[in-house]
Amino acid sequence: MKQNSDLNASFYSPVVRRLVPYVPGEQPKIDGLVKLNTNENPYPPSPRVLAAIQLAAQQGLQLYPDPEATALRQTIAAHHGLEPQQVFLGNGSDEVLAHGFFAFFQHGCPLLMPDISYSFYQVYCRLYGIPVETVPLTESLCLDVAAYARADGTAIAGVVIANPNAPTGVGLALQQVEQLLRLHPRRVVLVDEAYVDFGGDSAMGLIAQYPNLLVVHTLSKSRSLAGLRIGFACGQAHLIEALERVKNSFNSYPLDRLAIAGGVAAFEDQAWFEQTRRAVMSSREGLVLALEDFGLQVLPSQANFVFARHPTQDAAAIAAGLRARGVLVRHFKLPRIEQYLRISVGTPAQCDALVQALASVLAALA
Ligand SMILES: *Cc1c(COP(=O)(O)O)cnc(C)c1O
Repeated sequence: MKQNSDLNASFYSPVVRRLVPYVPGEQPKIDGLVKLNTNENPYPPSPRVLAAIQLAAQQGLQLYPDPEATALRQTIAAHHGLEPQQVFLGNGSDEVLAHGFFAFFQHGCPLLMPDISYSFYQVYCRLYGIPVETVPLTESLCLDVAAYARADGTAIAGVVIANPNAPTGVGLALQQVEQLLRLHPRRVVLVDEAYVDFGGDSAMGLIAQYPNLLVVHTLSKSRSLAGLRIGFACGQAHLIEALERVKNSFNSYPLDRLAIAGGVAAFEDQAWFEQTRRAVMSSREGLVLALEDFGLQVLPSQANFVFARHPTQDAAAIAAGLRARGVLVRHFKLPRIEQYLRISVGTPAQCDALVQALASVLAALA
């Protein structure tokens, strides 16, 4: 068996042998589970999205989609007060991030990122051979911008942060983001705003001022379209041009016809967006109070999830107990955060189910 796997690995290129792929949260095939483990929106997308997708499915699936996804580009540009050439689209923001890492961070010197952040960043770095320098979050798991300065002038490849951060949910003030941009004016600062619509401060308004700023958004979270795979990056046209070069060296059609149509409709139904994101934020406030009632410490969240720890009970044991009671949450077995649970904010009914299950788990563990 060993010999066999050595043989099999000999087919792999060296970089693939060294890869450590990202492990997404579980997508269980079992019905009836309360799924609070992958930060999906608990509400469905706007009915207008479904209608647009249905129409698109009836018209021209035999034809390739628009390689520029012009309609969606224009819609997003208008929504954020930008020009279409300041918007880049991809098959989920994960793909946009990957192209961004490839386009901007391969300088042979380290990319700076928080020690605790979206774990996909380190996966891309391995894929593309980008050295990483992690910068520790503070004791309270906040980002310390001053720690990103390099007074000795040592070269860095750029900076990537998530704001609000994942998996902590903690947001960074815009002034601090600006400080980062000014620390490294000759390198790209990539700000991943996957969760910004749940109460964070977006850096979109800084794009005109900062040629090194790239802001990445997704329709997976606040627009309830994780299943459709749409993400985008905004920045000055020279940055978008670099992303286009990478994309057009990889896949001309990352967005299919259904995604383009559904994406446009999602931005056209602003009322649905406001209603659902407000519902999530309001559930979050209730969930935080309920968790605190159990004695859990909850980090301040500007996202559609909370990051919480119990003062005495083991997080892995709590997660296992919740799972046994039909509730999925995410536990990361990683340094500094292994006693935390990341709990996505569900509907009020899902949050109630979590609270009931947690009461039962904690009673059983005590
Ligand atoms: C969910 C998430 C993404 C990925 O979003 P997709 O558009 O679904 O690929 C990117 N960054 C962070 C921080 C996320 O949590």
